[in-house]
Amino acid sequence: MNYKRMISTLLLALLLLAGCGKDEIPIEDYVRSNPGTAGMTAIMKSDTGYYYSSTEYGDLNLHYYDVASGQNIYLCSKPECRHDGDAFCTATSEKYSVNSVCFYGGSLYLSVMETTESEYIYKLLRVSEDGSELTEVVTYLTVNKASIRALIGGEEMIIHRGVAVIPYTLISLEGATIAGEISGFTGTCIYNLGTGELTQLPELEYNSKSNGRERFTGHGDYIYFNTKQDRKNTLSRYCITDGSIEELELLRTYTGMYEVMDEDTIYYYYSGERLFEHKISTKENITHEEVFVYLEKHWNPFLNAEVEAEENYTCTDMITDGTYLYAGHGVSFHGTSKGNLGSIVYSEGTEEKIKSYVHVYDRELNEVVKVEVNAEPYLGYEDYFSVAILDGMVYLQTRPAVFSCTLEEFLKGGQPPFELLYEHEDVEY
Ligand SMILES: [Zn+2]
Repeated sequence: MNYKRMISTLLLALLLLAGCGKDEIPIEDYVRSNPGTAGMTAIMKSDTGYYYSSTEYGDLNLHYYDVASGQNIYLCSKPECRHDGDAFCTATSEKYSVNSVCFYGGSLYLSVMETTESEYIYKLLRVSEDGSELTEVVTYLTVNKASIRALIGGEEMIIHRGVAVIPYTLISLEGATIAGEISGFTGTCIYNLGTGELTQLPELEYNSKSNGRERFTGHGDYIYFNTKQDRKNTLSRYCITDGSIEELELLRTYTGMYEVMDEDTIYYYYSGERLFEHKISTKENITHEEVFVYLEKHWNPFLNAEVEAEENYTCTDMITDGTYLYAGHGVSFHGTSKGNLGSIVYSEGTEEKIKSYVHVYDRELNEVVKVEVNAEPYLGYEDYFSVAILDGMVYLQTRPAVFSCTLEEFLKGGQPPFELLYEHEDVEY
């Protein structure tokens, strides 16, 4: 063996070693894989159907709806399985409490907690597309049960370009005994699915004034998140290539609601019902007073006539798809608030329900259309709902079912022609 040949053999062996035991992880962007983690679960669309978890928080309960056959099945490959938790089943298991579910690279990823006599063990699981395999990818945290109470649910995990961002919240048992006041801490694990590298961001206080890191989104080389500490919100971004964290210089009364429009542009909500734009490169903050405005008819006694005047509406949530900015009034696109599916808004001090709208703006922030969204016509009763926008479709998700229409139909305004897409089997309230 000559010298040159030996080197190439060594290189090949090293390459083989490096590839050993590691799966190829596709690089997908967060929006594509996990759009607006809304309400019960995100809309988790594959090429052939939709995945969903029918329990909002709690035991494993994975389903798959196949579009071609119209079949709604448990995500379990054992033909004889009764999916009742008696034997181990990948679709239903009481072994794990589920915090968050996310569809990425053709697999389902679940952030779960396992409880033993003395410990809470936090794990990231992967379930294959056909439910035949359930893999424990990594144990990212182990805590002693003596001093804390684990909080199930809360902020959702996201996966962006092969990096899983997994938030957790731990409540101190001492704090929980003081009436009405909870205290503890929150943390964020960052796990690289390709290299297996696990990083922990510093833990932060958690109480009624501090939520820690929330509203994670991925864009380019960055994971963006809001941090709420002592009632003050700050927007930061974590760089997935070098691990650095940078705080963006938004105005002080930023409310914690933001959307990344492109690599240089952040839209954010400012107290006083205004939209602001932040330019990352120049650190400029630009106001857009013309947005979040609607015309309201008022009776003018001097003119003895009805006149139209501009009013500001409260933006309850916003989302972008790179083309449009969607601002919800009484509509939520993310499941950001802990345990709150809220989309039913009542006017102050009355029982009167305010109609829910999505205002759609183009890149120049001109209002394109205003769409009325309401679950009642589709369910026959009033219920919580959330809206997701993905791949040219708009999804209206309620607790018992998911409805859809095309984005083209939605952009015509008025009341969009949502049709039943699939029902959630075994819904638990
Ligand atoms: Zn089963």
